[in-house]
Amino acid sequence: MSEDSIFTKIINGEIPAHKIYEDKRVIAFLDINPITPGHTLVIPKQQIESIWNLDSDTYEYLMKIVHTIADRQKEVLNPKRVGMLLDGFGVPHAHVHVLPLDGGLESSIARHLASGFKEPDHAALEQMANRLKF
Ligand code: 5GP
Repeated sequence: MSEDSIFTKIINGEIPAHKIYEDKRVIAFLDINPITPGHTLVIPKQQIESIWNLDSDTYEYLMKIVHTIADRQKEVLNPKRVGMLLDGFGVPHAHVHVLPLDGGLESSIARHLASGFKEPDHAALEQMANRLKF
């Protein structure tokens, strides 16, 4: 058994997160270092390293919830677009990034990187989670 990922620790309540949705199979919470305000991570509760290794039923269910989260971001934040990103180099637990976008994803990432490291703004994250949660 591999050691618990940071996301499994969030699922188990061992470390805090700004959750916006949870059911038996999936959880969605705000990224601690958001590329754009409302940047959400949607993950299966099952700890599997890569999204491409999920069984098709879990994958389809995860993507259904990703769609629901995108709808929720549109309803609450009214962005021009909602973007989606898969990377997985940071945390070895399958996750989908869902991001409200008012400009292109690449320029949003470039701006985010150029702004440098910042301590997490928990007050802003909590406020955002309160708006998005359902
Ligand atoms: P990756 O590069 O693996 O696709 O992205 C991992 C994401 O997880 C990053 O955007 C990072 O900010 C986020 N992240 C890492 N640790 C934590 C954490 O403890 N809490 C939350 N909410 N997000 C995290």
